[in-house]
Amino acid sequence: MKLEGSCHCQAVRFSLESAEPYPFMRCYCSICRKTAGGGYAINLGGDYRTLLVEGREHIGVYQARLADPQTGEVRVSEGRRHFCRECGSALWLWDPTWPELVHPHASAIDSELPVPPEHTHLMLGSKAGWVEPQIAPHDRCFAEYPDESLAQWHQRLGLSR
Ligand SMILES: [Zn+2]
Ligand SMILES: [Zn+2]
Repeated sequence: MKLEGSCHCQAVRFSLESAEPYPFMRCYCSICRKTAGGGYAINLGGDYRTLLVEGREHIGVYQARLADPQTGEVRVSEGRRHFCRECGSALWLWDPTWPELVHPHASAIDSELPVPPEHTHLMLGSKAGWVEPQIAPHDRCFAEYPDESLAQWHQRLGLSR
């Protein structure tokens, strides 16, 4: 489906084609909750080649610095988190490891998104102590990364389009 999105101040507007539009994946990692959310953030899957952007000059890009918990060694994340420099809205993540994909934040999408029949909760090991995840009976929970991709989730539930 075609998704249209924007930042809060409307300096940046974008659209893309998405085969994975269900907002089912709640990420509780420190990067998502600091840059894009309260307790968690939700990313969708889309086709990077179809991404059209208005107001590109207002976009900032953040690459997180991650310290290895064992060695303390700091590395820069490959993931490029795009945000509006005027209002701070999180827009999308693009990672050169999977250059054909783009992951818009559900929070930036203005189109009506389908309601997911179940959720995946990931990076629960990194969640803030005050966050109480709302876990329904069929939801899947992971301390770190989930065992299926955005595309696999949509296929398993027969929701690919
Ligand atoms: Zn803005
Ligand atoms: Zn995250």
